[in-house]
Amino acid sequence: GAAEVWKEFDKSKVYMVDLESGLHYLLRVELASHQTLEGEELKTFKDFVTVIAKLFPGRPSVVKLLETLLEWLVSLPLERIPYDAILDLVNNKMRISGMFLSDRLQWVGCQGSRPELRGYPCSLWTLFHTLTVQAAHRPDALANTGLEEDPLAVLQTMRRYIGTFFGCQECGRHFEEMAKESLSQVRSLDQAVLWLWSKHNQVNSRLTGALSEDSRFPKAQWPTPDLCPACHEERDGLHVWNEDRVLSFLKRHYAGPNISPKYAS
Ligand code: FAD
Repeated sequence: GAAEVWKEFDKSKVYMVDLESGLHYLLRVELASHQTLEGEELKTFKDFVTVIAKLFPGRPSVVKLLETLLEWLVSLPLERIPYDAILDLVNNKMRISGMFLSDRLQWVGCQGSRPELRGYPCSLWTLFHTLTVQAAHRPDALANTGLEEDPLAVLQTMRRYIGTFFGCQECGRHFEEMAKESLSQVRSLDQAVLWLWSKHNQVNSRLTGALSEDSRFPKAQWPTPDLCPACHEERDGLHVWNEDRVLSFLKRHYAGPNISPKYAS
């Protein structure tokens, strides 16, 4: 197709279009490779929808759509749900009542210099950082869902989502290895925010120079000093992170007021 026009953006912000396009891709494209959901897959999908319905800091029409999807999933007595039924709900039934998830994919902070670069995987990281930060800001948000009281709820849901549905299976394997190794050490909602940050940096460093790297967006340890100078320190001539500063930075960067509505239709 025709090359899209480059959209100027500010890398110190998070863009709602990226988050919404990520949800669009996830619900309408990624899930479509599963004809029916049942058993563990269905449980994983339900927990994922619970987490986004309760924590996604989105526009009212999108939050309403997620809440309706959740109510529907919870109330269904079925043990297997055909994917077509989920798609029909997301595409048709909800649209009638004004709940709406954009029907086109648009990347802004996640745009790549070629269509096969960045995009969805970038939005998925962005979504999960946003969700861990929301959970830390609103510890009661998951009350009465069966996921409350567990500081790992968001990360475990992400882990299961990535392992079950994420199209990049190699990514899923790598993520599972990291989770197995250290996820159980996470004891608080703040530690969950930092765990995801540190694992994402581990992935960044592994992927430096890989084919999937967009030369316009070279892999780097994040946040770079221009975004957060105070996050970086030197001890005995070596670079070290100031994790308190990193935590405050993440809790501001991925919070509602830093999510820009620019380009959102
Ligand atoms: P991304 O790494 O996607 O990051 C998106 C945005 O998040 C960045 O632009 C930046 O603003 C912010 N960010 C960057 N680092 C951090 C951090 N440490 N903490 C918080 N925010 C940060 N690709 C592979 O080729 N092999 C893999 O094994 C692999 N594993 C993956 C595992 C998971 C769970 C996911 C979601 C993706 C994986 N990918 C893997 C894809 C890869 O990590 C990138 O998403 C992809 O290469 C696009 O990179 P990007 O430049 O858009 O930045």
